[in-house]
Amino acid sequence: MVNSLTTQQTATQNLNLPSDQNASGRTLGSEEIALLAEAIHSGTLTSTKGTFVKALEKQFAELLGVKYAYACSSGSAAVHTAIAAIDPEPGDEIITTSITDMGALTPILYQGAIPRFADVDPMTWNVTAQTIAECLSDRTKAIIVTHLFGNPCNMTEIMELANSRGIPVIEDSAQAFLAKHDSQYTGTIGKVGCFSLQQGKHITTGEGGLVTTNDEALARRLFLYINKAFGYGDPKPDHYFIALNYRMCELQGAVALAQLSKLKGIVERRQIAAAKLTQKLQGLPGITTPHIDPRNVHVYWKYCLQVDSSVITNGAVGLAKKLKEEKGIFSAPRYIQKPAFQCEIFEKQRTFGNSRFPFTLAQNEALDYTPALFPGTFEGLEKVLVLPWNEAYTDEHIDYIADAIHGCAAQLCC
Ligand SMILES: *Cc1c(COP(=O)(O)O)cnc(C)c1O
Repeated sequence: MVNSLTTQQTATQNLNLPSDQNASGRTLGSEEIALLAEAIHSGTLTSTKGTFVKALEKQFAELLGVKYAYACSSGSAAVHTAIAAIDPEPGDEIITTSITDMGALTPILYQGAIPRFADVDPMTWNVTAQTIAECLSDRTKAIIVTHLFGNPCNMTEIMELANSRGIPVIEDSAQAFLAKHDSQYTGTIGKVGCFSLQQGKHITTGEGGLVTTNDEALARRLFLYINKAFGYGDPKPDHYFIALNYRMCELQGAVALAQLSKLKGIVERRQIAAAKLTQKLQGLPGITTPHIDPRNVHVYWKYCLQVDSSVITNGAVGLAKKLKEEKGIFSAPRYIQKPAFQCEIFEKQRTFGNSRFPFTLAQNEALDYTPALFPGTFEGLEKVLVLPWNEAYTDEHIDYIADAIHGCAAQLCC
């Protein structure tokens, strides 16, 4: 018995899962090559003169049903552009989340504003109207919400709160292409939407970003900020204010245009695969599948489990270790490891020279990172197990992942 089991185990090969870091899990192919060749043959690689980035902006706006979309060089640039367009005074506060990509946080400091970290709901890892309300002050200039892992924030309640105070909402949709809350696409509900085309996002140009808005005046500022605030096409163009060159080039525009035509299919395949895994994990002790508000459409940038350490020995960390050792599945317990406010940039206020600017302008409440103020953040990070997710997953991959989780969880079950 023991012998045959050992033989069987060694005979079982680990399955290689498609990865978003290479061709196995990316949709880059002949369509991208054809448009890229066209861009190169045109000899025009800057978007100020070319056609590809303009076509991308038009098609992205049409797809989302939004009036304006502008391409830029990254998701971080998109968030920076959104903040710069809203134009905070130095020392103004921008409410954000304690669990997000650093690229969504540093732009706040670059614009001289103070990030005010809101706690998250440990079930969804997203900020809520309630956690945002706790951070409001007379200095609040904007709210940035991140639709983490592709699952939208509860935008109805958040917009009610923001509108009652006249505060603009920036939606960081970098992980949430075509996600919906109450039938509306994320990135079109607030004042500005931000998207990323980085290697690991739903669609990619290696690096790249997009901003969206329905507000004409804001659209003008978004466009200008991406273009060194130079008024292209104006009767007397000038550089109107401080801004960078955050343009996307035509090479990226060509690839992005081909990628965009595949987006709906990518999202659908990720959703179908996710539904299958959710079904296979139902009722597994100590494991909770994604919590999705009935008004939400989740687009599964990642598939996240909550692992209960009172049932599974060592919780998410223990399960991740087993999945890697026994099945070759690389998952990420704790996602970003620690809340963003515990990173050196915030804890040690490392900004411009030794100035600590703009933290020097902050009121004390905004810099209070006491863990007791962030119970949802710590609980959420302790429980989360981020499974890599991909549109190329087949039934065989899903079965493999589900069986691995069942097997490893059973071994760790107290
Ligand atoms: C990826 C990401 C960003 C930053 O995008 P880059 O293109 O990497 O600069 C910002 N916010 C979130 C939520 C992200 O996932």
